[in-house]
Amino acid sequence: MTTDQLKALVRDVPDFPREGIVFKDLMPLIGDPAAFHATIGHLAEWARPRSPDVILGAEARGFIFGGALAYELRCGFVPARKPGKLPWETVSESYELEYGMDSLEVHADAFANGARVIVLDDVLATGGTARAKVDLVDRLGGVVVGALFVIELTFLSGRERLTGTDVHALIAY
Ligand code: AMP
Repeated sequence: MTTDQLKALVRDVPDFPREGIVFKDLMPLIGDPAAFHATIGHLAEWARPRSPDVILGAEARGFIFGGALAYELRCGFVPARKPGKLPWETVSESYELEYGMDSLEVHADAFANGARVIVLDDVLATGGTARAKVDLVDRLGGVVVGALFVIELTFLSGRERLTGTDVHALIAY
């Protein structure tokens, strides 16, 4: 399936989670066997030549795409989670969302030995979440070899928060 065909499976939900936000709902795409498989294939095509050791994905949709991508690439997966969810020693970064503030934690030993990391998410909006993940990798001694997204909301200029990082998205709005 082409990325244009995948785009047709993204549902716009106006005023979710609050008024004025058009939420890009990827559940129809994830629920479609051919579309989900093709999406992971497209993500893997970009990620493979960058030889990541691990994919870093944030809950919850980052787990769905990140887990499948890591399996496809035969690399590891590192979860970034909401505060208080991870059992071991953690480091944390706060960031601003398109619709609020939040913070993410990863395990302090997640990127041992200068691991090569691809930062992955479903949507690049303002770039705050991805910036926080890149900073966490830097702080813990990993090397970010790319920031990868299914969707990029180009009108929010998230890429500008990620200068110096190789950024790619399958579907642009
Ligand atoms: P940001 O930090 O602004 O780049 O926001 C990215 C994060 O918020 C991603 O984890 C997305 O899942 C979520 N997000 C932000 N805006 C939207 C949107 N319009 N539709 C769907 N998800 C969004």
